[in-house]
Amino acid sequence: MKKIAIIGAGQAGLYLGLSLIDAGYSVTIYSDRTPDELLKSRIPATPTLFPDALALEKKVDLNFWDENFLGCHKYFNKICDSQGNINLNISADLEQPWKAIDPRLKLSVWMEEFTRRAGNLVVRKITIEDLEKCYQKYDLVVVSVGKGDLARLFERDEQKSKYQKPQRHVAVMLTELEPMYWDAFEVINIAGVGEIVQYPLFDREGILVRGISIEAIPNGPIDVFSGIKNAGELLTVIQGIIKQFVPWNYEYIRDAEAIDDSSWLCGAITPKVRKPVGRLESGGVVMGIGDVVILNDPIAAQGANNAIKMADLVARRIIERGKESFDRFWMQQVFDEFWEYSQYVNLLSDFLLSPGDTVQSISRAMAENPEVTKDVLNGFNHPPSLYPWYFDPEAAREYLESKKIAVYC
Ligand SMILES: Cc1cc2nc3c(=O)[nH]c(=O)nc-3n(C[C@H](O)[C@H](O)[C@H](O)COP(=O)(O)OP(=O)(O)OC[C@H]3O[C@@H](n4cnc5c(N)ncnc54)[C@H](O)[C@@H]3O)c2cc1C
Repeated sequence: MKKIAIIGAGQAGLYLGLSLIDAGYSVTIYSDRTPDELLKSRIPATPTLFPDALALEKKVDLNFWDENFLGCHKYFNKICDSQGNINLNISADLEQPWKAIDPRLKLSVWMEEFTRRAGNLVVRKITIEDLEKCYQKYDLVVVSVGKGDLARLFERDEQKSKYQKPQRHVAVMLTELEPMYWDAFEVINIAGVGEIVQYPLFDREGILVRGISIEAIPNGPIDVFSGIKNAGELLTVIQGIIKQFVPWNYEYIRDAEAIDDSSWLCGAITPKVRKPVGRLESGGVVMGIGDVVILNDPIAAQGANNAIKMADLVARRIIERGKESFDRFWMQQVFDEFWEYSQYVNLLSDFLLSPGDTVQSISRAMAENPEVTKDVLNGFNHPPSLYPWYFDPEAAREYLESKKIAVYC
C-alpha cells in the first residue's frame, strides 16, 4: 500500500488526507497543533464556501453542520462612490446556499474524523530537515502548510504572479448576529476606498454569528488597522468606518459586541503563484497544494474553495497513478491540469483588486437584470464561466447585447 505524508492539517491537507484514507491509503498528516489547540486559537480566516466546494465536502462525508446551518440564501451588493453615496443596489436570491463555518471548528472536527477513520495524525511542526526524513519514509510528501514558512521551499512563478505587494489591508471580526445578516451575504464597494463584506458564520461554539471583513486599499482612508491590539479596539475602528463612509449601515453595527477576544484578525496577503515542485537538498521532491502554491487575496472568496478543489483533483490523480511513483513530472502535470481551472480563479481574484470599467457596466446590468446577477454569482462558484465577458470590454459588450441590455461600456 502506498504511504502518503501530508504536512499541514488545513482545508487542503485534511481534505486530501480524508479522501485518500477512504480510498484505502496509509496516510499520515503532520499538524503543528492538536484539534483542541486549533479550536482555542485565534481565527485564521473566515472562508465562505460556494456550492461546488460544499458538494465536494459532502462527497467525503465532511458536511457535519448541514442541519445546524442552512447558509446564506440572499445576496446584497451596494456600489457606492467614495463618500458612501449608493450608486447601485443589487439584490438576488442565491440558487444554492453559500456557507461559512469557523475553520477552527471545522478543521479540528475534521482532524478528529481523520483519526477516527484510521488516519495517523502526528502533532509536530515540521522543518525542512524533517521533510528530508519524510521523503525517505513515504512514497509521496504533500506540503499544505498554507502561509506557513515551509511554503518558501516553492519558487515563486513570476509569469503567473501579478502583484509584488498586498493590494488590500484586511481586517476581520466576529460579532453577535444582527437579524439582517442571518441568511444574507452583503458586499459594499466604496470607490477608491475598499470593500465591506458581512455574512453569517457558524462559529466554534456552534452559534450563528456575523462576520465582518474589511478590505482597505493601502494608504486609503480606511487603511487604519495597524497597531490594533484587541477585538474591542477593532470593533470601535470598524464602527467608525461604517459611520463615516456608509452611515445608512451604521444602525446595524452601532450596538454590536465582539464575540470574544480571539475572533478577529488584521493582516495582508501578497497574492502569488508558486511552482508545485519543492526540491530538497538531497535531491528529493515534495509537492505543494492549496495556499502554498496558489495564494490569492480573499476579495473574491476563492482560497478555501480552490484548496478543496485542488485537493480533490490531487486525490483522484494519486489513486489513478496506481503503483507508479510520484516524480516531479507527475507533480507538475497534476498542477498544470489544475491550473487549467485555477487560472480563472486567479484572474477573478486579481481583477477584483483593481477592476476596470467592465465591472461597472456589468454591475449596472446586475442592478437591472436578475439573469446577469445569476451569471455573476454562479461565476464565484465556477470562475471559468465568467471568462471572457466579465473581464474584457468587448466580450462584456457582446454578453450584455446577448441579454438585450443597453450597453454602457
Ligand atoms: C481573512 C480571510 C478571509 C478569507 N475568506 C475566504 C472565503 O470567503 N472563501 C474562501 O474560499 N477562502 C477564503 N480565505 C482563504 C482560505 O482561508 C485559504 O485559502 C485556505 O484556508 C487555504 O487552505 P490551505 O489548506 O492551503 O491552508 P490552511 O487552511 O491555512 O492550512 C494550513 C495548515 O498548516 C499548518 N502548518 C503551517 N506550518 C506547518 C508546519 N511547519 N508543520 C505542520 N503544520 C503546519 C497551519 O497551522 C494550518 O493548520 C480567506 C482567508 C483570509 C485570511
